[in-house]
Amino acid sequence: MGKLYRVDALIIRARDFGEADKILTLYTKEYGKIQAIAKGVRKPTSRLRGGVQMFAHSRLLLYRGRSLDIVSQSESVESYGSLQEDLVRLVYASYLVELLDIAVPEREPNENLFLTTLLSLRLLLGDDPELVCRMFEIRLLYLLGYRPYLSGCMICRQVLGTGTFFLDSKAGGIVCAKCSGGRVENRISSGTIFVMQKLLSMDPRQIFRLKVSPEQRIELEKALENYLEYHLDRVVKAKKVLKGLIKI
Ligand SMILES: [Zn+2]
Repeated sequence: MGKLYRVDALIIRARDFGEADKILTLYTKEYGKIQAIAKGVRKPTSRLRGGVQMFAHSRLLLYRGRSLDIVSQSESVESYGSLQEDLVRLVYASYLVELLDIAVPEREPNENLFLTTLLSLRLLLGDDPELVCRMFEIRLLYLLGYRPYLSGCMICRQVLGTGTFFLDSKAGGIVCAKCSGGRVENRISSGTIFVMQKLLSMDPRQIFRLKVSPEQRIELEKALENYLEYHLDRVVKAKKVLKGLIKI
């Protein structure tokens, strides 16, 4: 590879640096997560500006630098600019990209995850950003190899539709009440497990047709949060902001 290379990138983090620069975290189709610097981009005259905003999907020309690679050209593909106009959607989008940032190591490409993230950002503009986030969470787990086993109790094979289940992060799937050893946390009904299966298998663009009750949403949110925290070994900061905001 020469000094210059092109990437199809999503801007997942942007921090001000120095007088007028920004350090960007990019999630790229070709190389996974990479850091790059956009020089002079905070000047109003910068031609890079449009392509390096948060959540922008852009084609970038990067120059291999000594420590950080340098953005030398940017062309916006889709800005997802309207995410910035709605506080709730903005916080959901921030949560989604922070989760991605935490979950993936640098320079490990995953084209399916790249495409899933782009599609999720687009779907966040629709009617049910909460459910879109749940879909992103479970698909992220799947694409990183942490897909929970959801076809019945992992231990005794008790089938869904009967009794109570628990999502066991350590075991990597659901267990029935009898096999759970008297636990009380991460209780999950068969209906919610069906929703999880659906979120994994459905055409994402049909997500707004999925009926999910308020009780199922609570179970889903809690179960996936615990599962993610166990497997990623990190708490997602934006989740706190999100929770504070949704309660208002
Ligand atoms: Zn069992």
